[in-house]
Amino acid sequence: MNLTPSGLSRRIFLASTAAVALARPSFAATIKPDAKSALIVVDVQNCFVDGGTLPVKGGAQIVPIINKLAGSFENVVVTQDWHTPGHASFASTHAGKKPFETTQMPYGTQVLWPDHCVQGSDDAALLKDLKLPTAQLIIRKGFHKDVDSYSAFEEADRKTSTGLAAYLKARGIDTVFVTGLATDFCVAWTALDARKLGFNVYVIEDATRAIDLNGSLAAAWKQMADAGVKRIQSGDIA
Ligand SMILES: [Zn+2]
Repeated sequence: MNLTPSGLSRRIFLASTAAVALARPSFAATIKPDAKSALIVVDVQNCFVDGGTLPVKGGAQIVPIINKLAGSFENVVVTQDWHTPGHASFASTHAGKKPFETTQMPYGTQVLWPDHCVQGSDDAALLKDLKLPTAQLIIRKGFHKDVDSYSAFEEADRKTSTGLAAYLKARGIDTVFVTGLATDFCVAWTALDARKLGFNVYVIEDATRAIDLNGSLAAAWKQMADAGVKRIQSGDIA
């Protein structure tokens, strides 16, 4: 990682050197991803944008931001929510339940969603405008019928690994930058697991969009901050 100076000190610097800034039209971005860095693009699928089965407000707006970011990364990993029909995370699977209610699963509380991202459907396809020439791995998750998986690293039973951590570590990658949908679910869980597994973790906020169910967005940012996840903007990446 090449990180100079931090975003905070940069802002203070900006405020205190306004006159100098006039002579310098733009400041260089501060973070330069290297061969040990990977961009993780979480669930940028038709199901999670307008016209899909579980649309996240403004979801498609992150595509050009992610495409531009990808130019700075040698390593890009993509995830894809990939459910069986009748998946345990679907409200329709549970008699009397409506989408966005919760139920108790053997592994804990599960939010119930509209049917979404069913394997092989157009709804589950990656957005066609996503242009990621260095993408090298697609992790599919949520394909065990009785277990959901928000995280790219570990399924919701908190036992079943997707293998992503071992893949990244085998390739010498120690830092991940997480983008995609949705900030407060799959992005946050991916970022938190990455911290737990020993990676340096950044979430690129403007390259995500949130569902924000009952305060879930603020709660997710707090949990991520407490875990040492760094919150940055795409403009911070060189
Ligand atoms: Zn899902």
